[in-house]
Amino acid sequence: MESATSTSDGAGMETGAAIADAVRNGELTREGIVRLLEIADPEELQKLFIAADAIRQRFVGSEVFLRGIVEFSNFCRRDCLYCGLRLSNRDLPRYRMEEGEILAAAHRIKAAGISTIVLQSGEDPCQSTVRICRLIRRIKDETSLVVTLSVGERPLGDYLAFREAGANRYLLKQETSSPELYARFRPGCRHEERQQCLRHLKELGYEIGTGNIVGLPGQNTADLAADLLFIREIDADMVGIGPFIAHPQTPLAPCPNGSPAMTLKVLAVARLLTRSTNIPATTALATIAPQGWRDALQSGANVIMPNFTPVVYRGLYEIYPGKSSASTNVPDFPEMLEQELRDSGRIIGTGSGFRKRQEISG
Ligand code: SAH
Ligand code: SF4
Repeated sequence: MESATSTSDGAGMETGAAIADAVRNGELTREGIVRLLEIADPEELQKLFIAADAIRQRFVGSEVFLRGIVEFSNFCRRDCLYCGLRLSNRDLPRYRMEEGEILAAAHRIKAAGISTIVLQSGEDPCQSTVRICRLIRRIKDETSLVVTLSVGERPLGDYLAFREAGANRYLLKQETSSPELYARFRPGCRHEERQQCLRHLKELGYEIGTGNIVGLPGQNTADLAADLLFIREIDADMVGIGPFIAHPQTPLAPCPNGSPAMTLKVLAVARLLTRSTNIPATTALATIAPQGWRDALQSGANVIMPNFTPVVYRGLYEIYPGKSSASTNVPDFPEMLEQELRDSGRIIGTGSGFRKRQEISG
C-alpha cells in the first residue's frame, strides 16, 4: 500500500481539515478518505482515533454491546480464495451442529446476560429454509434473543421467510467494492448479486451489517475508500471491518496479512462517516493483534462478539488461522471485559442493542 505524504506542514493541515470536516458533518470525499487512510504520522493518527472515539461517544455513548456468536456449520459451497472453509479445502473436517446443540448455546448466551445471538455458517446447502426458520422460531420462543443471521447469499424468498420466522438482523459483508478484486477472490460469485442481497435485506426490514476485508492482496487505499463510501451509501446499521489473515490451506497462503494499523484507520473513518452504526472490534483483529480489540474500542468500535460455539467445533470453524484462540473468546472474557471496561469509562450495554439513529444527549 502507498505510504503517507502527510509529514509536510501543508499536507498535515489538509489532513487536519479532513478530520474536522468529518467530525462536523460526517462528510468526506473519496480523496479525503484516502488522505486519512494514508496518515503515517503518529500524532495525526492519534487525532484521527480521538476524533472517531468522540463521535462514538456522541452517537452511541459508552455502552459496549455483546453479541454471542454460534458458528453452527462449517460446510460451504463457495470457494472464496481467502477463506479456510472454502469447498476446495478437503483437509478440513466438516461439522453441522444439531438443533439441540444450537439451542443449548442460545441458552448459554441468554444466561450470560447477552441479548443477541449471531448464527453464522458457511453457505451450507443442507441448511434448508425450513430448517433455519424452525431454528429461529425455537430460539425466539425459548430465549427471546435478538437473532442475527450470517449465512451468506440466499434467494429473496429465504430472507423473507427468515424475517417472518423472527430474524432481526443480517450480516453480509461486501468484502470488497472493487469488482476486479471481488471477481478474483470470490470465483463464481457476482458482485452485483451480493449488493442486491443487501438491498433486499434492507427492504425486508432487517438491520443490515456489511463491511470489508482490509489488506487483501492487490487492494489499495482507493479501494478501501470505495468500501467505506458503499457502507454509507447502503446505510448499513452494523459495520464489520477485519484484516485479511492468510490461511495456509488456501491459494492466498503466501500473502502477507492485512495490517492492524490500517484496519484501525478504516474502522475510525467508518465511525466518522456512519456516526450511529454498531461497529464490532472484530475477532480477526483480535487474532493478529492481541490488544487489537482494546485499540478498536478506542477508535470507534462499540461491539464485541464473544464466541459461544462449543469448544469441540471451534477449532474447525477456521475461516483464518488462530481464530479459536483469539483474545476475545469466552469463557474468561466477559468477566475480564467488565472490569476492563469500567477502568476505561465504558460499560456493558443493556437492552437489545439496536441502532439508535439520533445523537444521544448529554
Ligand atoms: N459464509 C458467510 C459467513 C461466514 S464467513 C459469508 O461469507 O458471508 C464470515 C466472514 O469471514 C466473511 O464475511 C469474511 O469477511 C471473513 N473472512 C473469511 N476469510 C477470511 C480471512 N482469511 N481473513 C479475514 N477474514 C476472513
Ligand atoms: Fe464460504 Fe463465507 Fe468462507 Fe466464502 S467467506 S468460503 S462464503 S464461509
